[in-house]
Amino acid sequence: MKLLIINCGSSSVKYQLIDSETEKALAKGSVSRIGMAGAVLNHKPHDRPEVQVSGEILDHIVAIQYVVSILMSENHGVIKDKSEIAAVGHRVVHGGETFTAPVLVTPDLMQELRKLIELAPLHNPHNIRGINAAMETLPDVPQVAMFDTAFHHKMPPHAYIYGIPYVLYKRYGIRRYGFHGMSHRFVSDRAAAILKRPIEELKIVTCHLGSGASMAAVKGGVSVDTSMGFTPLEGLMMSTRSGDIDPAIILHIMAREELNLHEANTLLNKHSGLAGLSGVSSDMRDIESAAEEGNNNARLAIDVHCYRIRKYIAAYAAAMGGLDAVVFTAGIGENSPTVRARCCEDMEWMGIRIDEAANSDCIAIERNISASDSRVQVLVVPTNEELVIARETARIVESISEEHPEPAGT
Ligand code: ADP
Repeated sequence: MKLLIINCGSSSVKYQLIDSETEKALAKGSVSRIGMAGAVLNHKPHDRPEVQVSGEILDHIVAIQYVVSILMSENHGVIKDKSEIAAVGHRVVHGGETFTAPVLVTPDLMQELRKLIELAPLHNPHNIRGINAAMETLPDVPQVAMFDTAFHHKMPPHAYIYGIPYVLYKRYGIRRYGFHGMSHRFVSDRAAAILKRPIEELKIVTCHLGSGASMAAVKGGVSVDTSMGFTPLEGLMMSTRSGDIDPAIILHIMAREELNLHEANTLLNKHSGLAGLSGVSSDMRDIESAAEEGNNNARLAIDVHCYRIRKYIAAYAAAMGGLDAVVFTAGIGENSPTVRARCCEDMEWMGIRIDEAANSDCIAIERNISASDSRVQVLVVPTNEELVIARETARIVESISEEHPEPAGT
């Protein structure tokens, strides 16, 4: 069946149409600058060049209408009619403690999802907007929601409880939730397949290093700890997010710079991390070039980023009581031999040694980059969060049709 997978941001919609039998994307693309001047749709059918269409795209409903139209268009389309879309799968950032598995969208579910906005005010409203827009455009098509937090729901309390009054967990749900769950799940499953070992017996550290970055300790296929927390701000340093800092720094800066809550939030989420530290860019490619040209702050940004990843690798080996594999994924993890080499530097003591040539040659492909005598396997695995959503969406849609089979003869 053909499944439309949607990931809605504040002003963007990313999409893929995936054939669940072949697990290939028939087309993929994105709509950006929704609601702004110069909105644009980039669309890439699997067998033809990418096209760009600009237009007035006022909201997410219009954006999804554009997507469905181009999927059916004569020159750039991959389907003839929208009835070929069997289901829509949505990425939803926060499932709270309620949603620990993908679910079929119903009016009751939408009500529950709205209750979670409080936990993820920057993300969930856009995801909800995307679901509403898809239901409006494809009213007869089942919609499935899958949550970034779900893969981490089996974390033990000692990993998810913070050292603040317990009543705040009870009252406001303040605990570690973790994000990027679909990616951590996909790459840990792939790692087990590459190593030809059952995931149940493996201890894997997954490093999702994109603009947002997080790591997970995956023991026996279960995430037992992860670096993002109550929000996606905790943990590793990211493109523009600070990651771990002493919480008192926030109070101190708010007082000294007379920042309000909104300004403090913007400082930590948009002006910190690699961008704030390097002063060069939020993009690791620019920072690597600047570092090679001798820019000290760019070098420092890479040093800090990789040092923290190394600390988390060791911490998660401790959390799991051992380590079989480290997996690098997402934009930086898949494409930067420099960062991967730095993250594995001086880690021989814990059995991690990479093959420098294999690492240097490995750009955006699946590969084992460990040295032949490395006890811990170091893998690069391109992530595919959309495929995880597609597989789960197909599973749910198939289970509905088993429960309600079509009458014979139709
Ligand atoms: P997201 O989906 O979170 O926006 P991605 O996983 O696409 O992020 O990762 C984006 C980041 O990947 C970019 O900010 C860039 O820093 C990094 N990146 C992409 N290609 C390279 C490369 N060749 N070398 C180093 N970093 C890269």
